[in-house]
Amino acid sequence: MLAFGAVAAVMVAMASVAFRGTFMSNESNRWARHTVLVLGNLKTLILDLSETESAYRGYIISGDSTYLQSFRAKVLKVTLDEAALHDATVDNPDQENALTVLATRIAEHTRLDETIINLRQAAGLEAAAKVIRDDANPRTMAEIEDAAAKVRTEELRLLAIRDADASRRSEQANGILVIGATLGVLIIAIAGWRVNRDSQRRQFAEDALRDSEIQSRMLVHEVQDYAICMLSPEGRIVTWNEGAERITGYGAAEIVGHDFSCFYGPEDQQRGLPGDILRTSIADGRYEGQGPRVRKDGSRFIANVTVTTLHDPDGIPRGFSEITRDLTETEGSAAKYRGLLEAAPDAMVVVNEGGDIVLLNVQAERQFGYRRDELLGQQVKNIIPEGFAERLISDGTRSTADALAQQIGTGIELSGRRKTGGDFPIEIMLSPLHSAEGILVTAAIRDISVRKAAEGHLAQMEGRYRGLLEAAPDAIIVVNQAGDIVLLNVQAEMRFGYPRDELIGQPVKNIIPEGFAERLIADGNRSAAEALAQQIGTGIELNGRRKNGDEFPIEMMLSPLDGADGILVTAAIRDISVRKAAERHLAQMEARYRGLLEAAPDAMVVVNRLGEIVLLNVQAEKQFGYSRDELLGQPVTNIVPEGFAERLIADGLRSAADALTQKIGMGIELHGRRKNGSEFPIEIMLSPLESTDGILVTSAIRDITMRKLTDVRLLQKMEELNRSNQELEQFAYIASHDLQEPLRMVAGFTQLLSRRYKGRLDADADEFIAYAVDGASRMQRLIQDLLTYSRVGTTKGILRETSSEQALGQALANLNSSIKAADAFVTHDPLPSVLGDETQLIQLFQNLIGNAIKYQKPGVPRVHISAAKCELGRWMFSVRDNGIGIEQRYFEKIFGVFQRLHKREEFSGTGIGLAICKKIVERHGGHIQVESCPGHGSTFRFALADSATIS
Ligand code: ADP
Repeated sequence: MLAFGAVAAVMVAMASVAFRGTFMSNESNRWARHTVLVLGNLKTLILDLSETESAYRGYIISGDSTYLQSFRAKVLKVTLDEAALHDATVDNPDQENALTVLATRIAEHTRLDETIINLRQAAGLEAAAKVIRDDANPRTMAEIEDAAAKVRTEELRLLAIRDADASRRSEQANGILVIGATLGVLIIAIAGWRVNRDSQRRQFAEDALRDSEIQSRMLVHEVQDYAICMLSPEGRIVTWNEGAERITGYGAAEIVGHDFSCFYGPEDQQRGLPGDILRTSIADGRYEGQGPRVRKDGSRFIANVTVTTLHDPDGIPRGFSEITRDLTETEGSAAKYRGLLEAAPDAMVVVNEGGDIVLLNVQAERQFGYRRDELLGQQVKNIIPEGFAERLISDGTRSTADALAQQIGTGIELSGRRKTGGDFPIEIMLSPLHSAEGILVTAAIRDISVRKAAEGHLAQMEGRYRGLLEAAPDAIIVVNQAGDIVLLNVQAEMRFGYPRDELIGQPVKNIIPEGFAERLIADGNRSAAEALAQQIGTGIELNGRRKNGDEFPIEMMLSPLDGADGILVTAAIRDISVRKAAERHLAQMEARYRGLLEAAPDAMVVVNRLGEIVLLNVQAEKQFGYSRDELLGQPVTNIVPEGFAERLIADGLRSAADALTQKIGMGIELHGRRKNGSEFPIEIMLSPLESTDGILVTSAIRDITMRKLTDVRLLQKMEELNRSNQELEQFAYIASHDLQEPLRMVAGFTQLLSRRYKGRLDADADEFIAYAVDGASRMQRLIQDLLTYSRVGTTKGILRETSSEQALGQALANLNSSIKAADAFVTHDPLPSVLGDETQLIQLFQNLIGNAIKYQKPGVPRVHISAAKCELGRWMFSVRDNGIGIEQRYFEKIFGVFQRLHKREEFSGTGIGLAICKKIVERHGGHIQVESCPGHGSTFRFALADSATIS
C-alpha cells in the first residue's frame, strides 16, 4: 500500500512536473511568437517610414499634390504601426522606453518634413532645397534607425533570456522529477529504475529539441525561398516563416492553427491526399513529392514538398516539418526550359507522373484558352480528356517510363478540349524529361484542325478529280516534299508496271531513280518550293524504271499543288521511248540518208509501222510548218489526216508491208495539214525502207497546189478557146452564108457575059471574061466548102445509132460519076452500126473516098473501106487507097483548113475536105490520122463508138 501510495505520490509529482513542462513549453512558444510579432511590426514601421520619406521627396521635387496625399496617408500609417508596436511591448518597461525614443525621433522627423513641405508650397523648390541641403534631416533618420535597432536587439535579447529561463525552469522541474523517480526506485526498485531511465531519456530529448527549436525558429523564420512550417500530428499549422507567407500569400496570424490541407485543391482533398502524405511520412519517416498547391488567392503553383515526421523520445510522432519549394519559380526548371518552351511553335505542356501539368507555354494557354495559373497543377485530363493520361499513368504492370517509351516519337492523334468546352483534333509528340522531381513528360501539342479539314477536302477533291486524273493520256503521279508518291493514275500503273498499292507511299526514287527527288528535296540552302519553282513548266528528260527493272526515257512536266501537308508536286510523265528511238535512228541514218533526204525537192517523211514519224527533212518542216522536234515521234495522221496511215496500217488481214507494196510507186493524191490547221493538196510517193527497226516507209510528199492551180487555169483557157472557136465558126458560117448571094450574082452575070459576048469582042476580052467566070465559080466552091465546114460545128446534130454501111452506100452513090470517070475499083468489108450523125458520116466517107480516087497515079485506082473492133466499144475504120501517097512531114498539115499539097493545075480542090473530116471525127469523140508512104498509097483511120455504147 505504501508502495502504491508512494507510487501515487510520485505519479502526482510527475504529473505536476509534466504539466509544468507543457506549460513552460507553451509559454516558450508564446514568447517566440511574440518576438516574431514585435520584429514584424518594427519592420513594417521602418518600411512605412521610408515610403513616407519617398512621398515627401517626390512632392518636394515635383510639387505634385498626389505625392503630398500619399505622404499624409503614410504618416498616419506610421502612427498606427507605432501603436501596434506599443501594444505588443506594453508589458516591458525597457522596450516602452526604447519605443518612446523611437516615436519621438519619428515625430521630429515628420515635423521637419512638414516644415519643408510648407516652405516648398510658400517659397518654391529652391528655398526648400536649400533647407534640405543645410538641414539635419539625415541625422534624424540615422537616429530613428538607431532607435529601431535598439528595440530589435532588445527583443531578440528578451527572446534568448526567456528561452534560457524556460530551459532553467524545465531543469528544476526535471530535478524534482528525478527525486520523485528515485523515491519510486526505493519503493519499487524495478519500476523506479524504469521510470528513472525513461525520464532521463525524455529530458535529454526535450533539451535537444528545445535548443534546436530556438535555433530553427531564428533561422527558419528569415528564409525566403522555402515555405517552412511545423505541423501538429493532426496536420494543423504550428509555425510559419516568411518564405511561406511569400509563396502562399497567407500571413502567420491568419494561418497558424489551420489545417494544412487548405493548400490542396478540392480534388486532392477529396481523394485524401493530405492525409496520405502524413501517413506516408509517418510510415517512411519522410515524404517527398511534388504536386499542385493552392495559394490564398486561389491560384495554383507546383510545389516540391518534403514532409518529415518529428518523433518524441518514445518514437511517437509529435508533429511534422514541411518544407515547400515553389517549382514554378525554381531557377532550376524555369530557367532551363522556359525560353525553350516559349520559343516552341507548338503548345508545350510538361506533365508529371501523376498526370498534373507542371509547366506550360504561352501557346498552350492560347490553344486551350486558359490562363497559365488556371492550368498549372491541373490534371492534364482537363484539357486532353482521353488517351493522354492513360498513356502516362502506369497500369500497375508497367512503369510510366515503359508506357512512355512506347509512345515517344510517335505522333498520337487525340482530342484537346478548350476552356470553353469545344473539342479540337490535336497531334501529340511526347518526350521524357528526367528531372529532380522524377520523370516528367514534355508534350508538344499541335492543333491539327486545319490539317484534318484539308484532309477531308483532299478526299473530296480526290473524288472530284480522280476522273480527270484517270482520263489524262500521260502517267501522272503526285509526290510530296519528302519525295513520296501520294497519288497516281492508271497510266502510271501501266507505264511502271506496278499495281497502285505498291506505289502509294513509296519514294518516287523507286520509279524515277535519278533527278526527280533531287529536284524536289531541299538541299539545305533552298526550300523545296523554291527548287520546284525553278522546274515548273519545263519538260525534264529523265529515266523511268519499271517494276521489272527496265528503264525507259521519260519527259516530265511538273506543277505544284497546294495540299494539306504543304506543297505537293504533280508530275505528268510521258514515255518518250519512240521519240528517243527515232532520235537514235536518226543519228544512225543521219550520215547515210541525211544528205540525200535534205537534197530531195519534196518533203520527205519516214514513218514506222505504227504510223509514227521517225525522220523528216527540212522541206517537210517547211511544208507542214512544224519544227523537227514537234514532228518526231508524232503520228503521221497529225500532218496527213486521212488516207495515208490507213494505207500503211494493216487492216488485220494484211501486213503494213503488204499494204505498202500495193501502193508503192503510185502517186497518191491526198491532203496535208499544216501546224496552223490549213490544208493543202499533196501527192505522195511511197517507198519501203528496210531498217533495224523493221520496215519503214519513206514518203515523198509533194505540194501540188501549183499544179492544181495550173490545171484549173488550163481548163479555164480551154473553155475560153472553145468559146472563141465557136464564135469564129459562127462568124465563118454567117459570112460564107451571106457571101453566097452576091457571089451567085457575080457568077451568074459573068457566065451570061461569057455566053453572049464570047467571040464578039476581042481575044483579050474573051480571056478576061473566062478568068472572071473561073474565079467566081472557084469562089463559089470555096464558100460552099467553108459553109459545109462551119456547119459541122454549128449543127447540133444528135448522135444516134447509124449504119455506117448505109452511110458509105450513100457516099458512093454521090461519088458515082467520079468513080466511073476514074474507072476506080472501090471495095469494103461489112461495116458496123455506130453512134453517129448520118449526114456527117456520109460527108466523111465522101471526102476520104473522093480524095482516094483523085490523088492517083496512072493505073487502076483501088479503094478499100474496112472496120475493126479495137478497145472497148469502139470501131476503127480505115480507108485505104493505092494513090500517090503523102510525105510523112505533111501528115498533120493536110488536116488544116485550106491546106493543100498540090497546085490547082495538078489536082483540083479547095483544101478544106480533110479539115471537115477531122472536125466530124472529133465531134464524134474520135481522132483521125493518116499513114502513108509516097508512091504506095495512103490509109486514113478514124474510130467511132459502137452503137451499143449508146447509154
Ligand atoms: P483538096 O482535096 O480539096 O485539095 P483536101 O483537104 O481534101 O483538099 O486534101 C488536102 C490535100 O491532101 C490535098 O491537096 C492532097 O495533096 C492531099 N491528099 C488528100 N487525100 C489524098 C490521098 N488519098 N492521096 C494523096 N494525097 C491526098
